Amino acid sequence: MRIGTVNTLLLAGAIVGACIATPLARTGQARAAEDLTVRAERIADDQVETLGDGYDAEIDRHRHLIYISALDDSHLRETMALLRDFHDAYGRTMGDFEMPWNITVVLPTAGDFAELVPRENCAGWYYPRGRRLIALDRGQVLLHEFTHALHDAHVGGAAQPLWVREGLATLFEASTITPGGLEPFVYYDVRTVQQAVVRGRSVPLGELLADDRRVFTERTALAYAQVHYVMYYLHQRDRLKDFWRRLQDKPAADPQGIKAVSRLLPGDIDRIDHAWREWVLKLRPAEGLYLRHLAMLGVRVEDDDDGAAITELVSDGPADRANRLHVGDVITTFNGRRIADADALYEVLGHLRAMQTIEIVVLRHGRAKTVRQALGAPKLRK
Ligand SMILES: [Zn+2]
Repeated sequence: MRIGTVNTLLLAGAIVGACIATPLARTGQARAAEDLTVRAERIADDQVETLGDGYDAEIDRHRHLIYISALDDSHLRETMALLRDFHDAYGRTMGDFEMPWNITVVLPTAGDFAELVPRENCAGWYYPRGRRLIALDRGQVLLHEFTHALHDAHVGGAAQPLWVREGLATLFEASTITPGGLEPFVYYDVRTVQQAVVRGRSVPLGELLADDRRVFTERTALAYAQVHYVMYYLHQRDRLKDFWRRLQDKPAADPQGIKAVSRLLPGDIDRIDHAWREWVLKLRPAEGLYLRHLAMLGVRVEDDDDGAAITELVSDGPADRANRLHVGDVITTFNGRRIADADALYEVLGHLRAMQTIEIVVLRHGRAKTVRQALGAPKLRK
């Protein structure tokens, strides 16, 4: 799905990149960036018009990221800062690259998301054709899909092995942004791999790499988890950048990257698999990770005859910053669900994701009022 998008901007970028030292080229580069910004403004206008009321656009001109957002301002700023830092950290980890095109990041309401991405159990998606990322989530799903978007731009839309694409996305979605780049941590999916290894049911490395599409179709959860820790293994051994370079250098001779892996790690592919299995059994998930997914509203509530009454807005929490819910409001409907009491609200919140924008019906001074509110993510410990 990443093949065949020939783009004049990409070609211009490649030519300019090759002769970056001359003043003429610098002018050309500046012009290409300007063209991208002009296009970005047009895309932003179109998208806001299509999505309608309640959407704002922002452009990160430096990174060619267009944001189309239903979030309130503070959430949008936070998300832009997150993706800005993630983009830059990706460059430090994988090698800086010139963004050859605009990427549109759509952060819609829950209702619009269901229409834009008609898929079950999905909180985000990257469409390489339109270079458009649509996400409800500000946690790992957003970072997973954003890694796909960066990776796609990094290789100029060239076809990449599935295991490499998903391996990088699963690696970086579970990482911390540090001055050195993206620092991955061990996540709970390591249990899936470890259980398979203990039972002798893990997919042999040679098979996983050579026939990744089949493995991803037949053993989806295990495939994602296994490629995550294959990438982690390369990263831990400081081989990730080298692997990447080799894969880009000789795509025809080594389309699946098997030779690249074999050359960078000792032994043949079976020995590498053996060493990898021993290594993976020793990994333990980092602490405090469960917080990442959770949606946070930032209110305290108590039971009320009509629903859940707000008694306090947590200082600097999502509700406090958006300033749309007030102490004394009684929440009666939350994201389309009737709320009978305080427990019902916590129950509904437990199934939602960070950054989702939802509609809340409250009784304020006895009158029903609909409020649009984005859910935040709890602060990470790291
Ligand atoms: Zn993916």
